[in-house]
Amino acid sequence: MRIILIGAPGSGKGTQAESIREKYPIAHISTGDILRANVKADTELGRNAKEYMASGKLVPDELIVAMMESRLRESDCKDGFLLDGFPRTKPQAEALDSILEKLGISLDAVIQLDVDDEIVVQRLTTRRVCKSCGEIYNTAFKPAKIEGICDKCGGEVIQRNDDKESVIRNRLAVFHEQTAPLIDYYRSKDILASVDAAGGKDVVLKLLEKRKGAGK
Ligand code: AMP
Repeated sequence: MRIILIGAPGSGKGTQAESIREKYPIAHISTGDILRANVKADTELGRNAKEYMASGKLVPDELIVAMMESRLRESDCKDGFLLDGFPRTKPQAEALDSILEKLGISLDAVIQLDVDDEIVVQRLTTRRVCKSCGEIYNTAFKPAKIEGICDKCGGEVIQRNDDKESVIRNRLAVFHEQTAPLIDYYRSKDILASVDAAGGKDVVLKLLEKRKGAGK
């Protein structure tokens, strides 16, 4: 199975991806995670991407496309993959089409997670993350037992720079401007399905099961 999840930042793409992976053994490819790992390891890609990410802007298409072309050639993608956070612009979607064509494969579905901007702002400004192990917390419904300290590893729990409100508003504007047009792009290819992101953590998995049952 080869699928793309499209949704605004904070629409819960990562959570949906987790529930899908419990059922289907496919590679979960999050461009945000790959980029953050590169920033942490201080690679050339990380150094080039850092400033864009910190201000909520998109990293230039050339860097992302080159990164994804090599990632999609890795052996764990043979049995399928789930793309989370890519493509995010029309040129990236077109580049993906040509990469897939070169590899002789095609997409099964593009799933749009629909969510209201104000829900995103509420969700992301309360999100916290452990600097050491990556455990996710939320000041509203999953706070660390001791504020600022990770329950799991004792590391420092912080707010990601790109989860600050001004940056989130900027990321939402970028989403509406640059990524939302992909919804029409994939609709015109007849592979788009939309779900309400407030529908729970299994909403995409349920849709995939239903489609499978219907032989799609
Ligand atoms: P995410 O965790 O998916 O929200 O990604 C975090 C940040 O990484 C984004 O705000 C962008 O700066 C950058 N990023 C992730 N994926 C892409 C992409 N496909 N194209 C450009 N920039 C990206």
